[in-house]
Amino acid sequence: MRLSIYWVDVEGGGATLIVTPAGESVLVDTGLDNPRDPARIAKLAKDVAGLKQIDHLVVTHFDIDHHGGAAELSKLIPIRRVYDPGVERPKPEPMYVKYLAWRKSVPYTVLKPGDTIPLRQAEGGPKLSLTCLAAAQQFIAPGPEHKPSPIPASELPEYPVDNSENRESIVLLLRYGNFEFYDGADLTGRLEGKLVHPVNLVGEVDVYQVTHHGLDLSNNPVLVRSLAPTVTVMNNGDRKGCGPKTRAALKATPSIQANYQLHKNLAPNADNTPDELIANFDKEAACTKANHIELHVAPDAASYTLRIPATGHERAFRSK
Ligand SMILES: [Zn+2]
Repeated sequence: MRLSIYWVDVEGGGATLIVTPAGESVLVDTGLDNPRDPARIAKLAKDVAGLKQIDHLVVTHFDIDHHGGAAELSKLIPIRRVYDPGVERPKPEPMYVKYLAWRKSVPYTVLKPGDTIPLRQAEGGPKLSLTCLAAAQQFIAPGPEHKPSPIPASELPEYPVDNSENRESIVLLLRYGNFEFYDGADLTGRLEGKLVHPVNLVGEVDVYQVTHHGLDLSNNPVLVRSLAPTVTVMNNGDRKGCGPKTRAALKATPSIQANYQLHKNLAPNADNTPDELIANFDKEAACTKANHIELHVAPDAASYTLRIPATGHERAFRSK
């Protein structure tokens, strides 16, 4: 088997599915608690990825577009273990209470910076790891592999102090040989700056999941430049995300060869990526096909392919 990543269309929520070469699965976030999102995730997991269970579910933070679908999803496909940042949401809202009640029924781990999700290695293949770089406003300790940022501090944009759930986001780095994928969930700009400055605690990556659905509270241009991705994938909705500052940051990053979007942003004057890199063009209410984007890494991890099966789009990239 090969390493694959699937971005499920949950209309501007989060639901990223990783399937390892050993056949294990890691789902990062679960969309909303409507019947729609859990059904879409389960359908993709079973029918497209060929899974019988979700081995590891990472709930990056307690906003409903990330944890909302967990309890309902577990009725459609078994979930074997759940991870989250472990912080308490100050004001419990009904969906969070439902999530906490469900979490009691599953083996549960608080994910801390430096922790890795235990994944089986495929025999003879490149080394695979999935590491937590940040959670609950804490970062991984700098090590010899982390380089000082060459970007002057004066270039760090200012962001307001963030008191929302987003700041608690779990940030994940998936490594498979030379291939690296960054999923920053909904981490906001101030903390994104600290993650790569004065020391770059991430390094350069191949694929950047555009943070926070492409909202301008996130996607600090210094983070994007520091990660220097080749490909980006935005889990936006028909109106959510695809912010002008985010788009500007992506377009100003010379390493980027292709910016994918789950949805075309239908707001007047929205700045979208070229149509061939978009999976869905309908309004949310009419978006019944919910086309996904998928990525497959070659067995030697030297290259990878992005695909939009619904449109037939396919493009190959070299790993760094
Ligand atoms: Zn979100």
